[in-house]
Amino acid sequence: MSDGMRIPERVQQVARWDSIVIGGGPAGLFCAIHAAAAGCRVLLLEKNTRPGAKILVAGTGQCNITHDGDIRSFVSRYGDHGKFIRPALMSFTNTDLMHYFAARGLALRAEEGGKVFPASRKSADVLAVLLAECDKQGVTIRCSEPVTGITREEGVFVVSTGAGMYHAATVAITTGGASYPQCGTTGDGYRLAASLGQPVTETAPALTPLNIRNYPFAGLAGISFAAMPFSIWRDGKKVRDCTGDVLLTHTGLSGPGILDASRWIRPGDTVKLGFAGPVRRNELAADLAKRAPENPGWWVGTILAKYPIPERLNRILLGISGIPEKLTCAHFSAAQRSALAATCTEFPMDVESLGDERVAMVTRGGIALDTVNQKTMESKLVPGLFFAGEVLDIDGDTGGYNLQAAFSTGYLAAQGSRKRLSSP
Ligand SMILES: Cc1cc2nc3c(=O)[nH]c(=O)nc-3n(C[C@H](O)[C@H](O)[C@H](O)COP(=O)(O)OP(=O)(O)OC[C@H]3O[C@@H](n4cnc5c(N)ncnc54)[C@H](O)[C@@H]3O)c2cc1C
Repeated sequence: MSDGMRIPERVQQVARWDSIVIGGGPAGLFCAIHAAAAGCRVLLLEKNTRPGAKILVAGTGQCNITHDGDIRSFVSRYGDHGKFIRPALMSFTNTDLMHYFAARGLALRAEEGGKVFPASRKSADVLAVLLAECDKQGVTIRCSEPVTGITREEGVFVVSTGAGMYHAATVAITTGGASYPQCGTTGDGYRLAASLGQPVTETAPALTPLNIRNYPFAGLAGISFAAMPFSIWRDGKKVRDCTGDVLLTHTGLSGPGILDASRWIRPGDTVKLGFAGPVRRNELAADLAKRAPENPGWWVGTILAKYPIPERLNRILLGISGIPEKLTCAHFSAAQRSALAATCTEFPMDVESLGDERVAMVTRGGIALDTVNQKTMESKLVPGLFFAGEVLDIDGDTGGYNLQAAFSTGYLAAQGSRKRLSSP
């Protein structure tokens, strides 16, 4: 530990480590690197045989590391929890992250739409930079050491693994969520935090596709819609309006818009799809009423051609609306126009289930945010205990927002830990 830091003498005598970081994902690696760079003796304990399993699978192995938008716009990308993460994002921004990797020889590129990837498109290159930096800053990494317990005795944390017990003045829990258990993320951090008295909110899979009851579009799997408006309904009431790219799958809905909205969707909800794009039901009905008489010889399906509805879907929507495929506009009744407008703008999809933790990209819920200091990532209940990354009750949209959150909160937790070690 550097001379500038003061921790109680008893803690200094007992604790071999200034900081123990539990979990070697992006949050843990970044926390360990920056705590060590500030002069702390840091031990990182990782459950797997090597750190960074999720970095390697991120972005299908290409690692969408962040987004190049204005950092202030990030706040809206974490559901209702963006406000909490603002200080972390501001303390280590997307620009800081891009400079960080560029300065260490890894060029990053933004693709159209703003997603940022390593120019090599290899997640392994991102992990290599982080591991080299751990080495350079003197972080001790012990792999294949799942942490099974933490206690705090007279200001010293005692961290247990199958291999032994470690003592530290501060601990950062960066164990990620409970999705993709094949990456080592099985919700251990929630249990460890709870054992220290830290409240954990209900957790569930997020960034996950929907399985739809009586799904009528299995034959159209693979068709996607850009910026489709859709709404979420529960017990007959609208819960939220959304817009995003939607993909029809064999069993339901996916695509970035649905994945992002999945944090708000529960089994039993109805998702109403706006196949016709940003047009309301009554506007479409009015448009059909105006244009049908102008084109009496056209088939009704033809009149929908100006809307973003692929032909195969067009036929199915007509059938579902009870309209014969070859009905001409001359015989298109008001009731049929109304039925077709409803089908094209508010198509109801009843959600049977959400993709479980084996397919969900993140977990919603986690360490209760009102018990964590958003400026330091330190627990308000257990001094010296820090959190970073997905273990917190934070889940971001697709597009690089989750990795940015992990890096930013990891960075802030390192600063918080350093401050805790310096405080009398
Ligand atoms: C398939 C997939 C693709 C994704 N793609 C992207 C993307 O392109 N861009 C993006 O922004 N986000 C992406 N994400 C989400 C992103 O990867 C995670 O949100 C992010 O990795 C979380 O970082 P973390 O450090 O908090 O946790 P993790 O990366 O999950 O790391 C936690 C670490 O803790 C270890 N651990 C767990 N329990 C213990 C224990 N008891 N003791 C010791 N170690 C333990 C785990 O083994 C793991 O190494 C993707 C997720 C998935 C599943």
